[in-house]
Amino acid sequence: MSATQPSVLVVEDEVAQREVLTYNLEAEGFRVTTAEDGEEAMLAVAEDTPDLILLDWMLPRVSGIEVCRRIKSRTEWQGIPVIMLSARSDDVDKVRGLEIGADDYMVKPYSVIELMARLRAQLRRTRPSSVGQTITYDDIVLDAETHRVTRSGAPLKLGPTEFRLLATFMEKPGRVWGRDQLLDRVWGRDIYVDTRTVDVHVGRLRKVLTKAGGEDPIRTVRGAGYALG
Ligand code: CA
Repeated sequence: MSATQPSVLVVEDEVAQREVLTYNLEAEGFRVTTAEDGEEAMLAVAEDTPDLILLDWMLPRVSGIEVCRRIKSRTEWQGIPVIMLSARSDDVDKVRGLEIGADDYMVKPYSVIELMARLRAQLRRTRPSSVGQTITYDDIVLDAETHRVTRSGAPLKLGPTEFRLLATFMEKPGRVWGRDQLLDRVWGRDIYVDTRTVDVHVGRLRKVLTKAGGEDPIRTVRGAGYALG
């Protein structure tokens, strides 16, 4: 299991394609949500912001290109990697020419193995702990593959929840996370947990991080939540 399960939104109007993608992504440990057209895609992003979007070019109603353009024009969404899927290679040239901000492109029929490799390449950049990368913040090193954490070289003993919390913080240093956002990412949307639980686990994480006398790297932001650094 990865540190925090990454979520992928699959936007594809063809049922068979959608099912193949969902099957393969779930087999690789991703959490998958799907949308059948461009409008549904925009709603899905607003409802549950994914870590990555696989976006078909030819969609009913709002086209894939328009969806990409809308996502990349919103500050809070523009960091989400978008991989466009298209039926013809000249579409890909068009996507490039239009500079709509897609992060990668694949032409159908594509190799699922190659698509997964490209998807991981995007996530290594944006969600390193979700693909087993080692991430570093100051003197803290988190290895998402072996689940080991050290501070100034000394190993730290973290519970699974504290580990996921720290991985989330370390992926976006300085970002202020609301308690609800941390609940979604660390505990998952489908589990009901009280927001006070977040405070309890942040407290535990702080205790472990400062055990050896190190400074507390987590900031409490009044009325907003928590941030690393
Ligand atoms: Ca299509």
